[in-house]
Amino acid sequence: MGTANVYAMKQMNRTTILSLIRQYGPISKSELAEKSNLTFAAVHNIVSELLERELVRESGYGESTGAGRKPVLYEVNPHAYAAVGVHLGVTQVEVAVIDGNGAVLADSTEELQANVRPAEAFDIVAARVEEAIVRSNVPRSRLLGIGISAPGPLDPEAGMLLSPTNFLGWERVPLKAQIEEKLSLPVFVEKDANAAALAELWFGAGSGARNILYVMVDLGIGGGLIVDGRLYRGHQNVAGEFGHGTIDLDGPRCNCGNYGCLEAVASGVAIVRRAEEAIRRGAPTRLAPLYQEKEHLSFADVVQALQEDDALAHQLFLESARYIGIGLAGFINYFNPEMVIIGGRLLQVCPAMFPVIRDTAYARMFRVNEQNVRIELSGLGTKGEVVGAGTLVFERTLYTDFMVPSSNE
Ligand SMILES: [Zn+2]
Repeated sequence: MGTANVYAMKQMNRTTILSLIRQYGPISKSELAEKSNLTFAAVHNIVSELLERELVRESGYGESTGAGRKPVLYEVNPHAYAAVGVHLGVTQVEVAVIDGNGAVLADSTEELQANVRPAEAFDIVAARVEEAIVRSNVPRSRLLGIGISAPGPLDPEAGMLLSPTNFLGWERVPLKAQIEEKLSLPVFVEKDANAAALAELWFGAGSGARNILYVMVDLGIGGGLIVDGRLYRGHQNVAGEFGHGTIDLDGPRCNCGNYGCLEAVASGVAIVRRAEEAIRRGAPTRLAPLYQEKEHLSFADVVQALQEDDALAHQLFLESARYIGIGLAGFINYFNPEMVIIGGRLLQVCPAMFPVIRDTAYARMFRVNEQNVRIELSGLGTKGEVVGAGTLVFERTLYTDFMVPSSNE
């Protein structure tokens, strides 16, 4: 083997051991040897190196097997490195500095104006990131980089937003290049629902699972797939578009140009549209006078009505939940996941949606799936996209290429 190959092999074994410690820690060296198929001696060398670099730490003792001493257990040292997560949403920018356990060290949010231009949005991102880094007290040498989650479609390799439907006039925007130039840190870009799926796998409800479908129910409806413990992006990075299966043959036009998509019928935007239609048909609701006055409603208006126990608002959220449950049953039959995680803002404002989604999905899916798939609520609430963006940095640097910042070499 040439030196380059030996080096690559060493890197691969390090990422394997580090990943196993992250996933199964606290864990002993002999368990690591068993799970990695490396020799005990090889594991011993790698663990010593990881300890020296402070990437892992000792964490008590396991049960002794037979006459031997109790084995030392190892876990990830969450303080070794930190990452910045940015969620570039349609209405706001969220920033969070996270440690190796996904804990938020500092965060901030800034609203975005409608029709914001890319240059303005990037200035806001840069300012917020700088400020969060300062407040987190993490030295620059310990920052692995910046992850950005944004609405698709996007090209994660080039770090380019292609033509996100809700950012009017944004076409082929070089997000990665622009932010790297402003902040001089490596930048990684991922679709929002994919980042949230990754965050659930590492730090949320999906911990320990290998095959996960993550569904984001927000103003739009998105999805992310984890296959065999890794993000599945598909051939052109558009896998998991859960919101764009047709669910209503004669349904309304969707943002994607098609008709009757789940997103066009059951998303936050669809709920607002259906509330307006119901008022025009004369449905009794406390939203009627507001609609008469403004001639349109916002999502915040409908949420407020829901919180004031308005019967129409309540009914619309639960109808959406039924549509999502039906869509989900089909998706579960195609994909056979071990776990479905449901997150997004709608579930936060209307927790009653969750049992309706779950029960509808169970009632409509294949029997064999019914007994085997777990459907659970997000463990990260509305923080999935921003924590996921930071998680992406750990995944792409330490856990894929073992890229440790050079100042620590
Ligand atoms: Zn669509």
